[in-house]
Amino acid sequence: MRLRNVTGSREMIAGSRFVVHEPAAQKGKWCEVFGNDCPIHIEIGMGKGRFMMELAAANPRINYVGIEKYSTVLLRAVQKMEAQELCNLRLVRMEAEEICEVFGRGEVERIYLNFSDPWPKDRHAKRRLPSRQFLARYDEILAPDGRIEFKTDNADLFDFALEELAPAGWKTEAVTRDLHHDGKMLAGNIMTEYEEKFSSMGNPIYKYVIYR
Ligand code: SAH
Repeated sequence: MRLRNVTGSREMIAGSRFVVHEPAAQKGKWCEVFGNDCPIHIEIGMGKGRFMMELAAANPRINYVGIEKYSTVLLRAVQKMEAQELCNLRLVRMEAEEICEVFGRGEVERIYLNFSDPWPKDRHAKRRLPSRQFLARYDEILAPDGRIEFKTDNADLFDFALEELAPAGWKTEAVTRDLHHDGKMLAGNIMTEYEEKFSSMGNPIYKYVIYR
């Protein structure tokens, strides 16, 4: 997602108390950011942040970190946080490839990937967030009993994501090719901005939950 350039978005983010500006300095001690020992759940490629905000409001005993690479997009989430402050949600502007510099070994209990960029060309496969290269990074930062949850409306990306699991040593706990008609997996589902848009166009939503 890229939004029209918003003048001063970097400066506005730099001045926000909801953004962790030097995330690598928190590696292994994110509990200090939140002032408690609650589990940490992250979304990589958060977009405008609605999913993270709804989860954080519903689960005050979980700490959330929303990660987004573009400041113009992150700014939308920052603006929403100004309107509805949540003490258990912080935002980070960073490239997901650097995730292991920002979280310590096993520091994260759950990783959410929602409507990740498909990178359709084969030579870009390693940039896809559910690729084996990224799974290796998640393996480092995720707790031993941690889970990754991935949602998309892109069938090719979902098939790719499933193929990546076994070679990287991951197993599926739950899989659906039509989340919105899967009573069990739909329970407690929080719609993301993209999910609302694509499901209203009639696209089925694919989802897996994985562990290792
Ligand atoms: N999760 C949101 C947005 C999906 S669009 C939703 O479901 O509505 C994908 C988002 O991931 C975009 O905002 C894009 O900028 C971000 N993104 C893609 N690749 C990324 C990366 N490597 N690191 C950080 N953010 C990334």
